[in-house]
Amino acid sequence: MIRSRYDKKKMVEACCALDLAKLRAWGSIVAGESHRGTCRWARGGNPSGEIGYLADLTDPDHAELRLTYRHGEESVDYAVRIESTTPNYGGSRWWFRCPLIIGGVACRRRCRVLYRRDRYFGCRTCHDLSYRSTQQWNQRVADLARNPAGIQAMLDGNPGVREILLAIKARGKLLEQVRDFLDQGS
Ligand SMILES: [Zn+2]
Repeated sequence: MIRSRYDKKKMVEACCALDLAKLRAWGSIVAGESHRGTCRWARGGNPSGEIGYLADLTDPDHAELRLTYRHGEESVDYAVRIESTTPNYGGSRWWFRCPLIIGGVACRRRCRVLYRRDRYFGCRTCHDLSYRSTQQWNQRVADLARNPAGIQAMLDGNPGVREILLAIKARGKLLEQVRDFLDQGS
């Protein structure tokens, strides 16, 4: 079996990143104005992502960056709040408010860069959290798939939805391994 060496640093690098400083340098973030544009990413010379945006700062108190793009067959369309703060040395500093909701709680962290992983853009903290919980989940599934008695014990012990889901995943993985084993033998 090939184990993927998918560390956190790579995870962030593999994302498309939306950098507010760059949008500003392109002239898209201007108080009192609205600007439309497209961001494109490439990896190894090949296109790896494209999104459309509308930076609407006509009302600086309700500024937002509307994002539209494809996720597989699906059209995604949502707005990310943009806010400005005034540093001591004057001028203004713009921030995204992270739009992700993790475990039913809206993140709303201030950040300068949003990363896309799967369907949505979000702050680095949110993506790290979801990445870590996915890794933990996958580890539990892998452990259980090696321990059929453990799956049975979990199902016998008044399981919650999460445990039942784990058992189904682990059983699926177990069957997959059995099939692989039989295929190798044939
Ligand atoms: Zn976040």
